[in-house]
Amino acid sequence: MHTSRAVVQTGPRRLELRELPIPDIDDDSGLLRVEACGICGSDAEQYAGVLPVQLPVVPGHEPLGMIERIGDRAAKRWGVNVGDRVAVESIIRCGQCRACIAGRYQQCRGRGRDGLFGHGYVPLDRPPALWGAYADYMYLDPLSIVHPIRKDIPAALAVMFNPLGAGFRWAVEIPATGPGDSVLVLGPGQRGLTSVIAARAAGADTIIVTGLTRDAPKLALARDLGADHVIDVEREDARARVRELTGGRGADVVVEVTANAAEPVAEALHYVTTGGRIVLAGVKGLKAVPEFVSDLIVLKEITIRGAFAVTSRAYQSAIRLIESGRVPLARMHTHDFRLEDAELAIRTLAGEIPGETSIHSCLVP
Ligand SMILES: [Zn+2]
Ligand SMILES: [Zn+2]
Repeated sequence: MHTSRAVVQTGPRRLELRELPIPDIDDDSGLLRVEACGICGSDAEQYAGVLPVQLPVVPGHEPLGMIERIGDRAAKRWGVNVGDRVAVESIIRCGQCRACIAGRYQQCRGRGRDGLFGHGYVPLDRPPALWGAYADYMYLDPLSIVHPIRKDIPAALAVMFNPLGAGFRWAVEIPATGPGDSVLVLGPGQRGLTSVIAARAAGADTIIVTGLTRDAPKLALARDLGADHVIDVEREDARARVRELTGGRGADVVVEVTANAAEPVAEALHYVTTGGRIVLAGVKGLKAVPEFVSDLIVLKEITIRGAFAVTSRAYQSAIRLIESGRVPLARMHTHDFRLEDAELAIRTLAGEIPGETSIHSCLVP
């Protein structure tokens, strides 16, 4: 085994399957045999060319796999060995910058030339090229972060550590959600559903999810995964429904995870209770938000936080929940794709394939 198949992105909407050399592993690094790579909205943005990623690159930032080779020092440091299954965090920190020193390695930009440095985002010209998980094998850097995960769980479920980790960070860790809190999740996509699961696991009291009329199947799934109420914002008066379902107060926590729509950001200020917390995690293509009444932030003393990445602690919460088998996560998984079908996978995710709806999907080399 001297080469690995890898999907290489050479330009916007241009992917090609190549054979790349498998690197030698030193004392501090490792080699992962990729079992599955989750795909999400970021993959679609990267494919479309709207993320600041240097090309050519092997994409794939949600890797799950087996340790194929590992250096002695890396094995000791990570506490894993050949044959162990691990989930790999996307971000590879530098360990030296202000963000890293402060323990906020999610914000590290120390090693990237103009942006993220992490699995799926490092260009091909930086040895050893196999940085992303759209491949049979992926290089593990000395500063990669790996989390052991049980081997008996189907790969398509184990790889949900990533979206579920986001749910724990965005809907629980950042807004400090706990028992007694009412949580309103705006958007029933993959991240909305994992926010529901995480909020439920954290002991939230009432969980409400909003969506459009065409989202009816996803809203039904949200109920199966732990939501108490769902609101069709096209057919119902959402502000009135939220008040009614929260005893007239509004939601303690609002998690905004809709894609591209700016309106829910402005609405969140109306849904949240006095002193409540809003977490913004859905990106809007850098659009401004119309009807954004900032006075509501002042008058209601609202806390608003942006959320982009995930923490190790949130990933660990996600892995423990996956391993517990307590939540019917398989209901969220819609598609497995082969490596050579990466393009189809992304277009399915982006809703470009008529008749197909993707909630959670992954590439399986
Ligand atoms: Zn992702
Ligand atoms: Zn750093």
